[in-house]
Amino acid sequence: MTPDRDSAGWWAATARGEFVVQQCSDCGVRRFPPRDYCAACRSRTWRWQPVEPEVAVESWIVDHTFAAGTTIVMVRLTDAPDCVMYGRWLHAKEPAPGQLAHPVFSEGPLIDWQ
Ligand SMILES: [Zn+2]
Repeated sequence: MTPDRDSAGWWAATARGEFVVQQCSDCGVRRFPPRDYCAACRSRTWRWQPVEPEVAVESWIVDHTFAAGTTIVMVRLTDAPDCVMYGRWLHAKEPAPGQLAHPVFSEGPLIDWQ
């Protein structure tokens, strides 16, 4: 994964074990994935904002091709419900809809969830 202009700060925070999203400096909307401007007010001023490291499982797939048996989840941040993220599911049992999870920061390019 090569960080780009918008995501470099997020990858740097993740490498430090910090769980952050962008927050618009003008209207306060939090957003993820990172982007240059606020979709709500078009402001280009923003900051990285720490958020509660808790998510709810929204959906998932089980990969039977490249990483056989790996479950990939889409999760919604409980502290910032407009933000969704993806990553590997670390439990042996498949998740349940709405199941709460927390991030695990690994050496890899993604956050894992347990
Ligand atoms: Zn805004």
